[in-house]
Amino acid sequence: MSKVLIIGCGGVASVAIHKCCQVSQVFTDICIASRTKSKCDALAAKLAPTTATRITTAQVDADDVNQLCALIRDYQPDLVMNIALPYQDLTIMDACLACGVNYMDTANYEPENTDDPAWRAVYEKRCQEAGFSAYFDYSWQWAYQEKFKAAGLTALLGSGFDPGVSQAYCAYAKKHIFDTIDTIDILDCNGGDHGYPFATNFNPEINLREVSAPGSYWENGRWVEIPPMSIKRAYDFDQVGPKDMYLLHHEEIESLAKNIPEVKRIRFFMTFGQSYLTHMRCLENVGMLSTTPIQFEGHEIVPIQFLKALLPDPSSLGPRTKGKTNIGCIFTGKKDGVEKTYYIYNVCDHQQCYQEVGSQAVAYTTGVPAMCGALMLLTGKWSAPGVHTVEEFDPDPYLDALDRYGLPRKENYNPVLVD
Ligand code: NDP
Repeated sequence: MSKVLIIGCGGVASVAIHKCCQVSQVFTDICIASRTKSKCDALAAKLAPTTATRITTAQVDADDVNQLCALIRDYQPDLVMNIALPYQDLTIMDACLACGVNYMDTANYEPENTDDPAWRAVYEKRCQEAGFSAYFDYSWQWAYQEKFKAAGLTALLGSGFDPGVSQAYCAYAKKHIFDTIDTIDILDCNGGDHGYPFATNFNPEINLREVSAPGSYWENGRWVEIPPMSIKRAYDFDQVGPKDMYLLHHEEIESLAKNIPEVKRIRFFMTFGQSYLTHMRCLENVGMLSTTPIQFEGHEIVPIQFLKALLPDPSSLGPRTKGKTNIGCIFTGKKDGVEKTYYIYNVCDHQQCYQEVGSQAVAYTTGVPAMCGALMLLTGKWSAPGVHTVEEFDPDPYLDALDRYGLPRKENYNPVLVD
């Protein structure tokens, strides 16, 4: 019997909530709390007749620690699942510490206002010292390590697909397949087509920030940074076919480099079509991706937030998106002194996801691991006071849960490698 407070009710949270309600023997009570309570009420009304989980809803501004604490004290959850935005990670962690409750999320902290001078000073120092310039990094949440340990609480960071399952695949390869891993390539392919000229598959602001930033990868103990989209490869994905993919910075590279220190190179690639890239470059060139507020006819607007209002809501893409995603990791390394290669991945069908939970596969492949991460914490399979990423825990029960709840693994012991 567990009570879980779920913060956020967008595309990813909606899938996670559907999945929690399918495992009502563990998730006996959930409270869905978000900025817009009407969305929580609508989802609760849809799910209530289908599940034994008792669902309540609440309104909360998760930027406000006091509001969060009042809600947590009132509801008394065993776990808080943060499936709002990365902007709220630190306030929700603060509230969990203040109230003595475990925490988890699906993406690491980044600030909403990247012009905030206090944040910018820390960011610029980190860019110089670490050598990568993405707006997000683990330092902000790793800084909570001692506080969570001292409180005897667990914070699980980044239990989506990537970050999340990608790191569990690495932990699995390290535990079962290799003595030492030499290289890791994380490949994120979305072969789906929603029929719009341009739309993002999850929150546009977070998504466009990520893909318009310089790329970087880890090699021989240091970061190598490259201009955005300047390393391109082609790969023939199982059940999707050949796609162009581009090297991006991605948060799990940072934790994997720390937790599997022998690895010589870690790269992350994501597939993009030419039309997506052309639209994105155009929007960037005219300033629509900017996070800096401007004055427009007496109102202050943030260009990327205005763009978000114009673009299709990612949660509306479900019925239109056809095709599959294929996300996984290719490894090279050694076992008993012999060179080996290994590929572990999942293939997920957009329309099957829509039929099951009313969402497309990008939300599904994030929401299912969020539920499975919560399941690990609530059933005590994963427990370690402090702040931890997925690869620090035993991958076996997590991958078993993913197999069971909708994201089964596939393996290839002789994959084509990425040059
Ligand atoms: P959405 O924009 O669809 O949903 C965000 C939700 O958070 C909305 O319900 C929104 O409420 C709510 N919210 C925003 N600000 C606040 C606030 N201040 N207080 C309370 N609630 C708030 O985002 P997604 O579902 O696409 O993404 C959710 C998370 O998943 C993000 O952190 C994203 O980075 C992460 N993600 C992780 C992936 C992975 O593989 N690890 C992949 C994809 C996404 P409202 O309805 O009022 O706007």
